[in-house]
Amino acid sequence: MNPIKTFILTILISLLSIGETKAQLFSTDTVPLIIHVIHNSEAIGTGHNLNPAQIASQFSILNSDFAGQGWTVSHIPSVWASLVANTHIVFVPALVDTNGVLLSEPGVDRIDRNSKGWSNTATMNSVNLQAYLNNTIKPQSIWNTNNYCNVWILDMGASGLLGYSTFPANSGLTWITGGTGNATNDGVCVHYRCWGDTLNTMAPYNHGRTATHEFGHWLGLPHMFNGCGAQVIADIPIGNYNQSFSSPVFPDVADTCSGYPNGPMFMNFMCNAINDSDIYMFTLGQAIAMRQAYINSHGSLKLSNVGTITSVASNPKSFLDFKVFPNPSSGIIHITSNVKSKKIEIKALNSLGESVYQENVTNFVGSSVIDLSKQSKGLYFIEMRCNDKTSIQKIMIQ
Ligand SMILES: [Zn+2]
Repeated sequence: MNPIKTFILTILISLLSIGETKAQLFSTDTVPLIIHVIHNSEAIGTGHNLNPAQIASQFSILNSDFAGQGWTVSHIPSVWASLVANTHIVFVPALVDTNGVLLSEPGVDRIDRNSKGWSNTATMNSVNLQAYLNNTIKPQSIWNTNNYCNVWILDMGASGLLGYSTFPANSGLTWITGGTGNATNDGVCVHYRCWGDTLNTMAPYNHGRTATHEFGHWLGLPHMFNGCGAQVIADIPIGNYNQSFSSPVFPDVADTCSGYPNGPMFMNFMCNAINDSDIYMFTLGQAIAMRQAYINSHGSLKLSNVGTITSVASNPKSFLDFKVFPNPSSGIIHITSNVKSKKIEIKALNSLGESVYQENVTNFVGSSVIDLSKQSKGLYFIEMRCNDKTSIQKIMIQ
């Protein structure tokens, strides 16, 4: 990294250390996911045709990990605690398809590979698997990359891969020299037993960190440089990242470089082949790089409304204007609207579309408060209905 870049990064990092400035520097940006679940004619919830609960479980993992608040982050050695980043990048399920029609399962597109005539990916080696994905599966199933981030969940059994991702195109990140995505292949692939943290997951990769790592790549992050040369991201400590740590103990003195006695930052999400329990952080330098990639390469997602439903295509006029705040929320949610009727219905749905709260308000005068603080953390949808009109907003409970 050249001295000017290092200087700018240092300023950004010092700004980020000041609580108030964080929010100004990093506005929340959203990545709406469409998850193509590739199965072998199995019933929903069996084999490769993942249970909705397993699919949904990955969202809270991603959002906690990208907020610097994920599982096991409390294990961070104190020397690096100040580097743990909140990226302010939030992943949500797409709510409508490419025609604007509500999806029956938020964020999910189930595909029977037999109906498509696709081969069994479980037996392919990694080279053949990636070629088959790029030449056949992805082009035949990808949704408009301007509006959706595409994810494919499938069997990568024989390949030895847990996941892989395209890098962002035209990001301006100097270390990206190939493997960038385009309109027919951009996105993230994850082995079906490494997605989420429940049901048919595979230890020790059963806490959703494969996807966290792959979205790091999708947003431009490289693996750690292995050796006593400089890292491309300035706040990553230099060390021997030999990628065979599995479950290391801090400090990893066997892999130190001169001047870096704390050794490699093996708990970083971008280390490879480490158990899910032992990786739990992005650094501020990585967060800044990801923000750059988001803006330069995936900036159209900022304008995408597929994850913030406003309407159903067949009846586009029948929605209400209302707001929910604060977002994210602790569960005490304020709702405001300028609807004229005093009778409204408020409903809260979890990420599986199940109703968790319902109230008929008979004297609505522009605002209301609902209490979801007893609900588990995660993504919810607040539906407001008035006469024949309805609208939904999403909210994150943390
Ligand atoms: Zn990787």
